[in-house]
Amino acid sequence: MRRRTGGEREDVDLRIDILTLFPEMFSGPFAGGMIRKATEAGICDLRVHDLRDWAHTAHRVVDDEVFGGGPGMVLKPEPIVAACEALVAKGTGRLVYLTPQGVPLDQTLAGRLALECGLVLLCGRYEGVDERALQILRPLEISIGDYVLTGGELPAMVLVDAVVRLLPGVLAAGAAAEDSFATGLLEGPQYTRPRVFRGLEVPEVLLSGDHARIAAWRRYEALRRTWRRRPELLRSAPLSAEDRRMLRAVMAEEPPAGRTQP
Ligand code: SAM
Repeated sequence: MRRRTGGEREDVDLRIDILTLFPEMFSGPFAGGMIRKATEAGICDLRVHDLRDWAHTAHRVVDDEVFGGGPGMVLKPEPIVAACEALVAKGTGRLVYLTPQGVPLDQTLAGRLALECGLVLLCGRYEGVDERALQILRPLEISIGDYVLTGGELPAMVLVDAVVRLLPGVLAAGAAAEDSFATGLLEGPQYTRPRVFRGLEVPEVLLSGDHARIAAWRRYEALRRTWRRRPELLRSAPLSAEDRRMLRAVMAEEPPAGRTQP
């Protein structure tokens, strides 16, 4: 066990509570692949809660019209505050509100969240959440991109996937270390069998068995790909003297194309 959660279970690395109006949306994405493997192995404990369980009115109402007029509905503060306080009080961890107005989710933030003992993810709907609930709860507000989705469920799934795969024991040892963004660069090209496909050959160096040459080739290709596709990442990527030498060679080969837009 990496640390104690303070919740009911103490044998998991990360407990994640998700608060949503649509719990059924999570059954498919969490039922297979890496998330299932992580939950079955006791590496993470995922629990999905229906926000309506904290709506103590006859019809379990959780939303109401916008004060001041305007289209749509807003999620009422009472059930949200009651639910979040109950879940956070269990000691299960950091409260996160998924919102397009939050800080962008990136690999660094995913890595930080993977070090938490627990996460409580609040999924908004409609026009969003009554501002007073956010004033009281002061969640970490996270966005998955500069576009607006219908609800916070898909962003919560994205966040869970990005975080859970970083927990020790979920991926093969070292598998995430060379991923794009993990080293500040994009990952270079990857190949598998067959050695020749429609006349295209796997680069000879990858078949050489020379680990030092392969590592150097991979680093060069990561630098090349980053320079081609996301040159701005190179401003903050930690680069060694050898990286800088390789980068000068890459830059001499080709100008940056910038991001491809449709
Ligand atoms: N009226 C809000 C605004 O303009 O900022 C958008 C509300 S959106 C239709 C409903 C809910 O979807 C939000 O409360 C949030 O939970 C979620 N959501 C939508 N886009 C998101 C994004 N890019 N990242 C994270 N959550 C998002």
